[in-house]
Amino acid sequence: MATDTPIDFQKLRLDGVYRMNERDELMLRIKVPAGVLSVAQAAQVADLADAFAGGRLHLTTRGSIELHRVRARDLAAIGRGLAAVGLTSRGACGGAVRGIACSASFSPNFVVTQALARRLHRHFAGNPHFEGLPKKFKIAVEDGYAGARHLIQDAGIVFTGHDRGANRFDVWVAGGLGREPQAAFQLAENLAEEALIPLIEAVVRTYVKHTPAGKRLKHLVRSVGEVGLRRLLEQERAGRPTVLAAGGLDGTPAPAGGGAPVTAFIFAGDLDTATLRQLIEAARSHSGGFLAVTADQNLAFAPAAEARAALVQELAAAGFVGTSAAEKTAFRVCVGSHACRMGLSPTRDLARAVLDALPPAAQGLEWAISGCPNSCSQPQLAPVGIVTSRLAKEDGGERTPRFDIYRRTGEGLGEKCEEGLNLQQLLQFASRVAE
Ligand code: SF4
Repeated sequence: MATDTPIDFQKLRLDGVYRMNERDELMLRIKVPAGVLSVAQAAQVADLADAFAGGRLHLTTRGSIELHRVRARDLAAIGRGLAAVGLTSRGACGGAVRGIACSASFSPNFVVTQALARRLHRHFAGNPHFEGLPKKFKIAVEDGYAGARHLIQDAGIVFTGHDRGANRFDVWVAGGLGREPQAAFQLAENLAEEALIPLIEAVVRTYVKHTPAGKRLKHLVRSVGEVGLRRLLEQERAGRPTVLAAGGLDGTPAPAGGGAPVTAFIFAGDLDTATLRQLIEAARSHSGGFLAVTADQNLAFAPAAEARAALVQELAAAGFVGTSAAEKTAFRVCVGSHACRMGLSPTRDLARAVLDALPPAAQGLEWAISGCPNSCSQPQLAPVGIVTSRLAKEDGGERTPRFDIYRRTGEGLGEKCEEGLNLQQLLQFASRVAE
């Protein structure tokens, strides 16, 4: 792209690109179906990050990978590099079906959930029938109800088991976080896998037809109710065939699930390419040549039983697994003002400050921190969630971030329990959180 051509940032969103700042630095998000990468794909991403993104990467809670501070002139080269290994950023931002998330990396049912995630990715990614949506449409395939991630998707698909000759799934729709969090409702129960794509397609088409620009599916449900959405869906499905898939973008074979996965801890999902390359070598040697971005922004491996001890030893020697306070305490952290235009607080710094403030009794607690009310790190799904809600002046001085705190104790979304805390009050809260 010529540098003197005005850049249409709105259009770039469908290619998975957001503008980061007034200097026209860009964020490019790579879709990674189910978060799983072959070592060849991971090495290519590392090469691209070195060449075009200052040698750093960010792992997201949906298993995607972001490159930051990319320049517009380099987008074509990055796109070619991704396509060469079966990856794409198409539809990773903007009004499109986003990357298909799959939170339980290398769990016993990962063979089923990952295969479905890849099938959905092949069907929806880069498919023009499902672009130009009013807003984003998020799909996740979960292997159970632990973690409740099905509640925050536009379509949350939960594996329920194998029955009557088919893998079966519950389908939940119209969830979402942001400024108006809303839990999804159950649309279908124990559906055979073959019925899923026609149903999700109909949900997307119904969403497009009946929802104003800039609004998610949850908005439509707030306006017509669950019964109304079911009625619209029936009308949409009457006599309408499933569209043809756009063709596979992803030729990576699915690795088989094995024993318990081994996780390399990556603080706040932020890593450099030297670190990634070290982990790629570990995956090549001990994990069948695959690794996965987890929902907690770490990297997971699926070693064969006989390779497990060597992998753990290698990761521990390199400092990726161990017993430090940071590793015992899980933080999901969005990029905040480090790399997002919407960010009101430096979320990684905040995570470090919270970690330092925690008493030993609070280690092991799971936290999620978001840099603005969009809640990209899913704070309402964590036992303790921090949302940077606004900036406010302190005694007539500079505007500083204010934080709301959510606690989740039941099966639904977390509830707000503190509002408008300044940093000092937030850290006091952290120091007492175990009481
Ligand atoms: S929560 Fe806000 S600050 Fe964080 S990544 Fe999302 S939009 Fe950006």
